Amino acid sequence: MRNFMRRIQARWAVQSHRRPLGAVDDSGLEAVLGEYGLVRKMRRSELKCKYCGEPVARSRIYALFRESGAIKVVCSNPQCIQGLLERWSK
Ligand SMILES: [Zn+2]
Repeated sequence: MRNFMRRIQARWAVQSHRRPLGAVDDSGLEAVLGEYGLVRKMRRSELKCKYCGEPVARSRIYALFRESGAIKVVCSNPQCIQGLLERWSK
């Protein structure tokens, strides 16, 4: 897990349940956003951080993960990243 987190710094991660699916690069992020219909939501500022609730712009997306069938977004706010790390370390 530690190696994984090091790898995704300044990148993005997609997680299913508690298991990370892997880090994705720019084009991977694009594909995920497109696949789940998140591009439109992001343009309307409706894509909100799971932890702070603020709209997340593409440049501020830190990670994506799946929860109850929906894709959740975490922004690059250090407190939000901390929340994500705590979730993944459980
Ligand atoms: Zn946030």
